[in-house]
Amino acid sequence: MSDRDGKIWMDGELIDWRDAKVHVLTHTLHYGCGAFEGVRAYNTVNGTAIFRLREHTERLFNSAKILRMKLPYTQQQVMDAQCEVVRQNKLESCYLRPLTWIGSEKLGVSPKGNTIHLMVAAWAWGAYLGEEGLKRGIRVKTSSYTRHHVNITMTQAKAVSNYTNSILANMEATDEGYDEALLLDASGFVSEGAGENLFVIKNGVVYTPDLSAGALNGITRNTVFAICQDLGLKVVEKRITRDEVYICDEAFFTGTAAEVTPIRELDRIELGAGSRGPITEKIQSAFFDIVNGRNPKYAEWLTRV
Ligand code: PMP
Repeated sequence: MSDRDGKIWMDGELIDWRDAKVHVLTHTLHYGCGAFEGVRAYNTVNGTAIFRLREHTERLFNSAKILRMKLPYTQQQVMDAQCEVVRQNKLESCYLRPLTWIGSEKLGVSPKGNTIHLMVAAWAWGAYLGEEGLKRGIRVKTSSYTRHHVNITMTQAKAVSNYTNSILANMEATDEGYDEALLLDASGFVSEGAGENLFVIKNGVVYTPDLSAGALNGITRNTVFAICQDLGLKVVEKRITRDEVYICDEAFFTGTAAEVTPIRELDRIELGAGSRGPITEKIQSAFFDIVNGRNPKYAEWLTRV
């Protein structure tokens, strides 16, 4: 991934991809305190545009605030940097990765005295859980790992360190032949996927875990709320048990990378008809209309680069 042509925005400058390096004594590399975003740009009917750039950038700043990291840039500068990276790399559609980390002036748990860095990279990235997964649905396993408790790591920060838990869960599930993991919170209620929010549909009502289960406040989750309102579907945020998922009619994951991916199986139990459900298909199709600029109502969610 590091050996390729292109430009990365690093600390205010566009530098060659291969030169975008950090020192081995970087504080974040040792203690895991950092924050990032996952953002997508789509090749819309009006040209390349970044989806919900403002919300992603705001969440990055909120993550940094939660982690007591003071970013040396304004939100506007970070939004401009993201547009610049897409333009400079001549990408029509891509995934963007802004990341902020603590520098290498000083080690020890306290990060005080270190500089705060920021970079933005972008590259072409197709369907995260596969094209086939988008159509047929994926197979998911309830993880043996518990999702973070809300007072252990901060679950509303998209913090670097939160992802060790996601990696463990994802590796366990994929090693056993599943596509992704579903994590439960410390009380045993459904929280979220390793990198996705969960939705289930029962009797025409759409349910998703409330954020007290430690799930990230996903921007795609919020987009699905708007879509459901447009489709006249009721959305309920509540505590959800794993057996409620077993007996749902339809289920899907949402995320910037995962987009809207149907789930056809949990723990080898078929969900609904065991394929992409009809309501999921409608939501998915509305989602792709919005991100590709085919729904003028949401034009303000697309920033031309
Ligand atoms: N939960 C986790 C743990 C994630 O990593 C992601 C991806 N950012 C999401 C949920 C979905 O968030 P979003 O829709 O904002 O990408």
